[in-house]
Amino acid sequence: MRPIHPPEVPHASVTDPGFLAAAARGEARLTVEQGLALFEALPLPEVGRWADARCRVLHGDHVRTYVIDRNINYTNVCNAKCTFCAFRRDGTESDAYTLEHTKILDKVGELAAIGGTQILMQGGMNPDLPLDWYLTLLRAIKERYPRVHVHAFSPPEFVEFVHFFDPPGATFEEKVRWVMVRLREAGMDSLPGGGGEIFAAPVRRKIGLGKCDAESWLTVMYVAHTLGMFTSATMMFGHIEGRADRIHHMHLVREWQDRVLAGSGGSGDRRGHYKAFISWPFQRENTPLGRVKDWGADDAELGREFPGDALARAFDWGRNPEIDYRAVPGAAEFGRRVRMAGASEYLRTQAISRLFLDNIYSIGASWVTMGPHIGQVALAYGANDMGSVMMEENVVSSAGTTYCLDEPVICRLIRDAGFTPAQRNNTYDVLRLHDGPGSPDLRVTDWSLHRARKMHQEAPKAAKVRVTVSAAAPAAAAAR
Ligand code: SF4
Repeated sequence: MRPIHPPEVPHASVTDPGFLAAAARGEARLTVEQGLALFEALPLPEVGRWADARCRVLHGDHVRTYVIDRNINYTNVCNAKCTFCAFRRDGTESDAYTLEHTKILDKVGELAAIGGTQILMQGGMNPDLPLDWYLTLLRAIKERYPRVHVHAFSPPEFVEFVHFFDPPGATFEEKVRWVMVRLREAGMDSLPGGGGEIFAAPVRRKIGLGKCDAESWLTVMYVAHTLGMFTSATMMFGHIEGRADRIHHMHLVREWQDRVLAGSGGSGDRRGHYKAFISWPFQRENTPLGRVKDWGADDAELGREFPGDALARAFDWGRNPEIDYRAVPGAAEFGRRVRMAGASEYLRTQAISRLFLDNIYSIGASWVTMGPHIGQVALAYGANDMGSVMMEENVVSSAGTTYCLDEPVICRLIRDAGFTPAQRNNTYDVLRLHDGPGSPDLRVTDWSLHRARKMHQEAPKAAKVRVTVSAAAPAAAAAR
């Protein structure tokens, strides 16, 4: 039987160009140790060069993509208390909200009117919303806008759906499947990869209070894949984690991808799988975690190992998950210091992800958090996709993101980076190749009107509503 992934070459050094060339061609797989070594062993442009080589093998030399979608955050009421989140509300605050179905439908209509193809719909984990609220909404979206792809509900939401709706099933996986099948029949097309953060248990327990563990997150995605859906995986780094935790995170994604591809004979044709990986640095504004001191702010810390790195070593790639950080030498301040990631660290992490994730098709640039020009540079560091022309974003912008790009600007960034821009759909098929004079960026005569716009910094002022129970809801409410 044909192996489904390239062989590891554990003795090879990441300073060996022959080994990295083989990895770029897809003929050698990086071990976790080799992935970690790439944080130190090579200068940044060199890691970028190999990631770019890998990207060109997978995506060619000419075309780089983007999608037009709209982020709809249907509620900010959430029963989790992630310390990196500035978006959530308990439900009693004056700016807590749940959008009415009509409001959500209006937003989808606005997207369809500008040629958008997809909505990304995620929210807080709101215990007041019954299953029927979701089913009715999805059916209404599909009835009015059958061509709009509904990319909705990240794994942590599904984990809470299981708690809220108490579906039938002997195992967690069966319960997730029961809910997912119903949402899919109602109109959900695929799942976004939100809530990945960092999978390592010590980190996740510290920053994701009340949020699902890695096993549950990955199981939800596995169920989606076995139902034939394409999904993405994400990682939010640059806070309390060690660099080895980032590689551990990518390793879990790669392993579960191997598993699902093996179930489909290696091609992924008969099953869904992870189509993309997107990583971004933590944004600290307005978040509890953002108030934590920076590592190195005290002179006494200079020259010492970052506590997250010390703990990640003791965590030992997940072989020691229940470790007590207080007993780990050098990790006493774990969780009480952050190591923020700037542009160089972001580009290096993204480039490593391109080389490490040999079984993931797409790597997305994160201009939303890093800004348009770092997003553009990211196209030379392994990214093939500029992500979304976003009409709306509330979650990351609550934590200080300030960038919003329209279609001409995204096309211009891609073209100036040396590629032809193309609009894609959710499955990464090219819808429109912008290689002629009618291209969105080439039609612009006055670029002063097309600068990156500042995003709103607050959650939308939607009226707080009580859930309107429709005729079919009592049964669903009873099932909770
Ligand atoms: S990140 Fe998501 S799950 Fe965590 S508190 Fe914020 S809205 Fe809730």
